[in-house]
Amino acid sequence: MRIIRGVLEIATSDRFQALNVTSIIESWIKKQKLSNGLLLVYVPHTTAALTVNEAEKGLMSDIITFLKELTYEAKSWRHNIIDDNAHAHLSSILTGYSVVLPVIDGRLDLGTWQQIILVEMDGPRRRKIKLFFMGEAQD
Ligand code: ZN
Repeated sequence: MRIIRGVLEIATSDRFQALNVTSIIESWIKKQKLSNGLLLVYVPHTTAALTVNEAEKGLMSDIITFLKELTYEAKSWRHNIIDDNAHAHLSSILTGYSVVLPVIDGRLDLGTWQQIILVEMDGPRRRKIKLFFMGEAQD
């Protein structure tokens, strides 16, 4: 069993954004020659989030609308006194900061419509996606 770690960087371009990051993670899996194991994908951030869902354009927009309706200007959040982004922290709590996925025969074991989505709620910023793999890799 091996442990292989990685960090990917993404620059978001808007304050609110849902980005499909599946292909860059798949490229990393290929580059690292991973074969079978578990991959933890996580963001070391408190105002961005990760989830697995369908990356259809309308739904990506709905995800942002949904989170904004629940958190953005919904209340006079106390954290806004400090840096005006309580909605982003609360969205991250709802969405989560990590996903764990099986890698089987060198590929992410995702369902037909499942994609890994990075949710930016306080951009634009440079975001990190960290990867922690436990399992078998070639050579
Ligand atoms: Zn904050």
